[in-house]
Amino acid sequence: MAIEICHKCQVRFRNDPTKVYLIELKGSSEQPLAAKPFTIWLAGIHECPGCGFKIVKIRDRRPLRTIIDKDFAEVLARVQEERNKAIVYTGAEE
Ligand SMILES: [Zn+2]
Repeated sequence: MAIEICHKCQVRFRNDPTKVYLIELKGSSEQPLAAKPFTIWLAGIHECPGCGFKIVKIRDRRPLRTIIDKDFAEVLARVQEERNKAIVYTGAEE
């Protein structure tokens, strides 16, 4: 079990996250334009009740879609239309 605690405030993050999608890119931070979406996760934004610091946490063990799913492009397009709910993660390791 993971427990997320704000280092500054020494309290747990709120457990009522704002639901978002996390789009994980494959590529390097040195070549961000070459990075390509390859995984879509259901995630949540958790906020510290003390200072308001926010973290993004993946909700499920398995991704919503990966690049090998036939409808990946369709789901990705739908997720990206919800601009305020899609977060792009560019720090994928190689
Ligand atoms: Zn805090």
